[in-house]
Amino acid sequence: MNFLEKNTKWFYFGIIFLICFNFFVWKEVFYLYKNSELKVNFLNVGQGDSAFVVTPQNHQILIDGGPDSTVLGKIAKQMPFWDKSLDLVILSHPEKDHMQGLIEVLKRYKVNYIVWSGVKKQDAEYLEWLKVLIKQQKMGAKIITAQVEQEIKVGNLLIDILNPKENLFGRDAGSSSNDTSVVAKLIYGKNSFLFTGDIDAKAEADLIAKFSGDVGHPPILSLKSDVLKVAHHGSKYSTTDIFLESVKPSAAVIEVGKNTYGHPTPEAILRLKNIGAKILRTDQLGDIVFKSNGQNLFLLK
Ligand SMILES: [Zn+2]
Repeated sequence: MNFLEKNTKWFYFGIIFLICFNFFVWKEVFYLYKNSELKVNFLNVGQGDSAFVVTPQNHQILIDGGPDSTVLGKIAKQMPFWDKSLDLVILSHPEKDHMQGLIEVLKRYKVNYIVWSGVKKQDAEYLEWLKVLIKQQKMGAKIITAQVEQEIKVGNLLIDILNPKENLFGRDAGSSSNDTSVVAKLIYGKNSFLFTGDIDAKAEADLIAKFSGDVGHPPILSLKSDVLKVAHHGSKYSTTDIFLESVKPSAAVIEVGKNTYGHPTPEAILRLKNIGAKILRTDQLGDIVFKSNGQNLFLLK
C-alpha cells in the first residue's frame, strides 16, 4: 500500500465518520425539537379532576386522578407501553373525585415524587390512599408535604405551590378538605397554568391577600396565569370576581361531568364570561389539550 492509497482510505473513513456523526447530531436536534414543548392535558374523567403534564424534557406529571380508573386508559394512551413510571404525582386534596384515580395509578406505576397536603380524612378511600403511599415510599418514592412558597423544578418547568398556607400534615380535614387543596402554578417560559383543586372563596381571598399585585413577592409568585383550572368544577362558591381579576386567565378549564350539584353553575360561568376568558368544559369537549413552546400557547382542543 503506498502513501496515497493509505491517505485515500483514511479520507473515505473520515467521510463515513462525518456522515455518521452528522446523523447523530441531527437525531439530537430532532429529539430536542420534538420535545421542546410542554403539553398539558386536562383529562375528561367525568365529575372530577385529572391533568397529565408532559414537560419539554419528557418528564411525566399527574395532577389528581379523577373519581375512578378512567385515568389509567387516558395516560396509557400518551405513554410508551413499556413505561410504568411517573416522575411526579400531585394530589390536590383527599376527596374521592380527585384521589380515587390516583390510588389506581399508584397501585400500577412507580412514582418518583408525590406531593400532597397531608391532611387526614376519616373514610375508606383515605386509608387506601395511605396504603398506596406507604407502598410507593418503600419503592423509593419521595413524599413531600405541600406548603406555600415551595418551588419544584422539573427540568425547565417550574411548579410554585401557593396553598396550603401552612404545613397541614396530620391535620383532620373534618367534613371538607376543599380549602386545604394544593394550589399549584406551572410556569414554562412566558406561559402559566393555575391549578386550584376545589378551593372556595375564602381560600381565594387568602391567595389574593398574599399574592396579588406582586407586592413583596417576586413576579413568579403572582396569581396571573394564562390558563385557570376553575376551582371546584365551577361551583358558585368559588371563582369570585376579585380572584379572576388577579388571575386574568385567557382560558378557563372546567373539569366536570354528570353531577347533582349543578356544576358548573351559571354564576361561575357568568363571572368567567365577564373577565373575557375562553370557557372550555371537559363534559362538552372531552380531553382539553394545551401545548406551549415557552413563548406561545396553543389549544389543540
Ligand atoms: Zn372536586
